Amino acid sequence: MRLIVQKYGGTSVGNPERIRNVAERLIETQKEGCRVVAVISAMAGVTDNLLKLAGEVSPKPSEREMDALLATGEQAAIALTAMAVNALGGRAISLTGAQAGVLTDRIHTKAKIANISPKQIYELLSDDYIVVVAGFQGQTPEGATTTLGRGGSDLTAIALAGALGADACEIYTDVDGVFTCDPRVVPEALKLDEIAYDELLEMAGAGSKVMQSRAVEFAKKFGVPFEVRSSFNRKAGTVAKEETASMEDVVIRGVSIERKQAKVTLDDVPDMPGAASRIFTAVSAANILVDMIVQSASDRNTTDISFTIHEGDLPRAEELLAPIVKAIGARRLISHGGVAKLSVVGIGMRSHSGVAARLFDCLGQGNINIELISTSEIKIAVVIAEKDADRAAQLTHAAFGLARYGTSTR
Ligand code: ASP
Ligand code: MG
Repeated sequence: MRLIVQKYGGTSVGNPERIRNVAERLIETQKEGCRVVAVISAMAGVTDNLLKLAGEVSPKPSEREMDALLATGEQAAIALTAMAVNALGGRAISLTGAQAGVLTDRIHTKAKIANISPKQIYELLSDDYIVVVAGFQGQTPEGATTTLGRGGSDLTAIALAGALGADACEIYTDVDGVFTCDPRVVPEALKLDEIAYDELLEMAGAGSKVMQSRAVEFAKKFGVPFEVRSSFNRKAGTVAKEETASMEDVVIRGVSIERKQAKVTLDDVPDMPGAASRIFTAVSAANILVDMIVQSASDRNTTDISFTIHEGDLPRAEELLAPIVKAIGARRLISHGGVAKLSVVGIGMRSHSGVAARLFDCLGQGNINIELISTSEIKIAVVIAEKDADRAAQLTHAAFGLARYGTSTR
């Protein structure tokens, strides 16, 4: 008998009607002759609400209690889902992360899964139950409740699929899969039939947030293929898996945009050991995430160091860098928000030359200025003005002929 793990995200269980829809799908899958494990997220908005409530009773809640609180969102959702299955004549039982055997480390609010002992899940499956597991949570060796970081139900699903040796892992969400670009920006964007783990990771880092990055990393590390698909229709989704030779035939898989970025430049930084360390130690100590970092070649013993951050972090970054600019003897700090990052991603870049030239040519023709460039083996990213982002994505999507590489879901 096939064993299948199906994960349903917050919007898929966002109201009673949608929970009934999920229950029907679970029963249907079981009737097709599968053993079914469902991983469920908190109903849409619930986790955000709990976070807000915590903030209203305490300026700095302890992380242990935060986890105890946040875990309740998924607990309500699994009980409701199991009730809905039973009300439809099915046979379901809900399990918290701890009951499902999800053991984590002790790092509250962003715990890592250490081990899964799915003994109880196996027993329930052999008694013909649909087992409904709470996503996003586990327990420490001492039995304290932990959570796995925002979006952590994806990780629960992938890790359970790996531990159970499931025949399939399906991640149900409110979109049809992973697209060549955001269809709201590029109407010709198509749903990809398949994507390599590394491409999905790079696209997530580039602003296409279909899956929690840690879950994709886990899937890659343990070789757990999964399919991202919609819970609102029956269409096939996008299969994420280990790359295959034929996947390299496609030059780039997708274009991502990340808006609301800011660019910070330290101009004429003395070219000496320790300068970059001073800058980035200060920024990371303030918990500001730095994305692209570019240092120019040394010119008369100075270099320019630029990086991007989220626009919301800019005032804080400016404040903490002002004294550092003085201390290291840089000339000045130049920074502005209103920029976006556009990335083209694809493992095909390794074997096709001229990808960068084609991207820059397309932006140049469109009269779109590039403020920063950075590359990885399978990605080229540029910083441009945010007002140009949509047009840049449309031009790039067309220049690489991406409308050839997917399946229309409309
Ligand atoms: N409910 C959690 C969150 O909103 C986990 C998840 O949905 O995956 O982040
Ligand atoms: Mg200079």
